[in-house]
Amino acid sequence: MKNFAYVRATSTEDAVRRSRTLPNCQFIAGGTNLVDRLKVFLDQPDGLIDISRLDLKQIASTREGGIRIGALATNTAVADHPQIRREYPLLSRAILSGASQQIRNRATVGGNLLQRTRCPYYYDTAFACNKRQPGSGCPAIQGINRMHAILGASEHCVAVHPSDMSVALAALDAIVEVESTHGKRQIPLRDFHRLPGNTPAQDTNLAARELITAVILPPMPFAKTGVYLKLRDRASYSFALLSVAAAMDLNGDRIQDIRLALGGVAHKPWRSLDAEAFLQGKSGTPKIFQQAAEIALQGAKPLTHNGFKVNMGKRAIQRALMISAKGGGVV
Ligand code: SF4
Repeated sequence: MKNFAYVRATSTEDAVRRSRTLPNCQFIAGGTNLVDRLKVFLDQPDGLIDISRLDLKQIASTREGGIRIGALATNTAVADHPQIRREYPLLSRAILSGASQQIRNRATVGGNLLQRTRCPYYYDTAFACNKRQPGSGCPAIQGINRMHAILGASEHCVAVHPSDMSVALAALDAIVEVESTHGKRQIPLRDFHRLPGNTPAQDTNLAARELITAVILPPMPFAKTGVYLKLRDRASYSFALLSVAAAMDLNGDRIQDIRLALGGVAHKPWRSLDAEAFLQGKSGTPKIFQQAAEIALQGAKPLTHNGFKVNMGKRAIQRALMISAKGGGVV
C-alpha cells in the first residue's frame, strides 16, 4: 500500500471542498472494497478523505411517499429497516444475499454503488487489464470468463458489475443524489453505471470529486410483490452468477406495470426494458413469462465459458416473474 494523506471531513461541504484542494484524492467510508484495492496498488491515491462520520446515515420517508436513504446508511441498516422490508422487500433481500453480516455492518449504500468488478484479471496485476490500464488488453475475453458478461460487453472489457443492491435499485427506479462544489444533482440509477464501450476504466457517470449523498426510492406500491432471485456457486458469501429483480402490478391476471432487472450479466445492472414493454397489459401466464424471458436475453453474446448463463437467465426470469405474480415472497 502506498502512503497517502488522511483527512477527516466534518461536513458534506467540507468533504467536497477538501476534494478540490487535495490532489488525486478519494472519499472513504466503509472501505470494504477500496481498502482491498489499496492493498494491491490498484488504487494509489495521494489522499483519502474520511466521510464516515458525516451526517448521512438517516433513512426517512419522503413527502411523495417514497424513502430517502442516506449514503452512509449501512447495508445492514437498509436491509433491516421496517419500511424497506415492508414496501421494498426485494431491496432488503438483495442486500441480505450479498457479502457477510460483518461486511454488511460496515459497507455503506454509497460505497455499494461504487464497488468495482470482481474480475480476477483486474485484481491480479501480473495480467493486462483495460480497466486497470487502458489499452493494455483484456485477457478475460480469451481466458477464464465463466463469471463474465453476456450482455452489453465490448471488445475492451467483458466484466460484470458485482453489486446485488444496485440491481434491486435499478428495478425500483432509484435516484442517486450527488453533491460537489458546483452544487447538487440527481442521477437516475439506470444512468449511474456505464457499459464498458471503449472506456472500461470508467464504471459510473459520477464526475470527479462528486460525493454521493443519498439514494431516493420513489413510491411504488407494487414493489411489495418484489422478488430478488440470486443464483451463485454457493449459498452465501458469493457473487451472483446471475440475478433477477422483479416486481409486478397485477389487476386480475392482467399486468398493469412491471419492473425487471438482471445482475451478473453486464457491466451495469441490466434493466430489461424490452421485456417490460412486452409484458405490459398482457396476462401473467407461464407462456407469456417464457416469451418475456426470450426477449430479455435475445441480445446475449456469451463467451467461451459462460454460455450456460443464457438458459439460466431465461429460467430465472420466468421463476422470478411467477413468484412476483403470486405476490412475492422469499425465494
Ligand atoms: Fe480487465 Fe474488464 Fe478484461 Fe476483466 S474483463 S480483464 S476488468 S478489461
